[in-house]
Amino acid sequence: MLRTYNINTPQYYFYKEMHKNQSIDYVKEKQKQYSILNNRKMDIHKALSLLDEYIDPSDPDVDEENSIHAYQTAERIRKKYPENKQLQITGLIHDLGKVLFSLGEPSWCVVGDTYVLGCEFPECIVYYDTLKENPDFKKYDKNGIYKEGCGLDTLYISFGHDEYLYKVLQHNSGKHKLETKFLDIIRYHSLYPWHTGGEYRQFMNEKDEETLKNVNMFNEFDLYSKEDDTDIDESVKQYYKSLLDEYFLDELEW
Ligand code: FE
Ligand code: FE
Repeated sequence: MLRTYNINTPQYYFYKEMHKNQSIDYVKEKQKQYSILNNRKMDIHKALSLLDEYIDPSDPDVDEENSIHAYQTAERIRKKYPENKQLQITGLIHDLGKVLFSLGEPSWCVVGDTYVLGCEFPECIVYYDTLKENPDFKKYDKNGIYKEGCGLDTLYISFGHDEYLYKVLQHNSGKHKLETKFLDIIRYHSLYPWHTGGEYRQFMNEKDEETLKNVNMFNEFDLYSKEDDTDIDESVKQYYKSLLDEYFLDELEW
């Protein structure tokens, strides 16, 4: 079964570190740090190729480099929605924020399920017990510092590849043709306590209702493609190379 999290596994130690470190103060600091994107310039192809060098330590289901997961997700989408090019691209690039590893960030600031800071931690968070080491444990009630209906975009969410790629795509909005709804899928795809656990619903606004539907639709492809063939042939890579050329111009600032 996918997403089985046992104790004393590499995933357990990974989340233990994440839960100890990703506090509200830490998230605020990372948000500030990456509000300026002047770390490097590279095109989207280069970013994708960097994932050849990254294996996600939070994922109990994937032992291969992350670029394979990118193609697998896109291919699953292409089989079901051959005409929906933007959704295929979203599948291909959704994890590109993991290039954060190449900026020297520790894995617990790059990958793994995310959660909201500044309100109570729901018990459906993976390895919830390790959150007892978080500086914010038991500090807030259910709504914490937020008002109901405030919208997901106003929440402090543990920092990682979702938020980073979202910021990159927003910052470089003149250099690609992806619509906002696809950016929102990217931004919230790791927020499992929300999209799968049913938590944080009190913070949603009208736009988030739409995002929730889209993220849940997307998650099927993201998750179950991990069971697919890991052999990606040249013609597949060529198809996506052309697709990226159609939707992205020029180098992006990261
Ligand atoms: Fe991801
Ligand atoms: Fe993924």
